Amino acid sequence: MVSEAVIEAIKNFVPENNIHLQEPMADHTTFRIGGPADCLVELENEEQLKNIQKYLTLVEERFFILGNGSNVLVSDHGYRGVILQVGRKMSGIRTEGNCIVAQAGATLAQTAKAALESGLSGLEFASGIPGTVGGGVVMNAGAYDGELSQVVKQVKVVSPGGEVLEFDNGTMEFGYRTSVLQKNSFTVTEVTFELKEGDRDQIRAKMEELAKKRREKQPLEFPSAGSTFKRPAGYFAGKLIMDAGMRGYQIGGARVSDKHCGFIVNVGKASAQDVTDVICEVKERVKLRFGVDLETEVIYLE
Ligand SMILES: Cc1cc2nc3c(=O)[nH]c(=O)nc-3n(C[C@H](O)[C@H](O)[C@H](O)COP(=O)(O)OP(=O)(O)OC[C@H]3O[C@@H](n4cnc5c(N)ncnc54)[C@H](O)[C@@H]3O)c2cc1C
Repeated sequence: MVSEAVIEAIKNFVPENNIHLQEPMADHTTFRIGGPADCLVELENEEQLKNIQKYLTLVEERFFILGNGSNVLVSDHGYRGVILQVGRKMSGIRTEGNCIVAQAGATLAQTAKAALESGLSGLEFASGIPGTVGGGVVMNAGAYDGELSQVVKQVKVVSPGGEVLEFDNGTMEFGYRTSVLQKNSFTVTEVTFELKEGDRDQIRAKMEELAKKRREKQPLEFPSAGSTFKRPAGYFAGKLIMDAGMRGYQIGGARVSDKHCGFIVNVGKASAQDVTDVICEVKERVKLRFGVDLETEVIYLE
């Protein structure tokens, strides 16, 4: 449990209105699941982030960086520690030549829209991914043959000790749904995307076409965290799960989507335990039937 002393100290770094105690994480995740976090802090700028991270590291208090919560499953018991939210209060976007510079809390949808408005092409694939720029870069989010690694030029981060650093594309060690930032505790504050001049009508048409595909293929009518599993080399997770006979498999309120078996959806009051139970069962049956180990893409926070 975060102590009174730590909470008092945090008040020196951010306005009191930005500090939320015993905050239900179900309100901050697209799964709509998760117990209370001891303390959730909405960050407004890099200065606040530097000071808080430095302080929390010094006093050895646990913290977790949250973007839009679209790739996390939070335990039913919540989180003992401080959640630092880099979200809508840190979401400025500007255009510099053929680059878009976005603060980490801007959504990928807002960033792709800014690119469209500036007649810049390259982020169309990201317009339907419901995460922030920060979360997107950490996960190397991607869809329809595009991934952020293809367009990221520079990433500004803050180290746990409060130092500001800049990583170029090579330093990010991007891989399939991964980057170097999953191995350390650096926080993204700003990302520069290098794009190409394009035709606005074509960019818009591409975005609309991909949005239509998403609506047709994905169970967007239910809360979820997107694809629950990474794509195993040579297979599609959704197809393996379907072929293992698990379409519609349900425990409590957590269900293997009927529309896309790669998604576990919250069909009503699912607990994190329900979701993890479904995940375990899916992994076991797929391994038994096809000998394939499914790796969870969704990050479990407890
Ligand atoms: C309906 C739906 C569809 C989806 N479709 C796709 C898809 O097509 N492609 C795809 O790749 N993903 C998809 N996702 C998953 C998700 O949107 C992405 O992984 C997204 O990039 C996560 O961003 P976020 O801001 O929500 O991050 P969070 O879920 O908040 O966090 C994810 C990870 O990033 C870290 N993080 C977040 N912000 C920062 C920051 N500023 N600095 C450092 N670390 C940070 C967190 O600590 C955590 O480890 C989908 C999800 C849903 C719900």
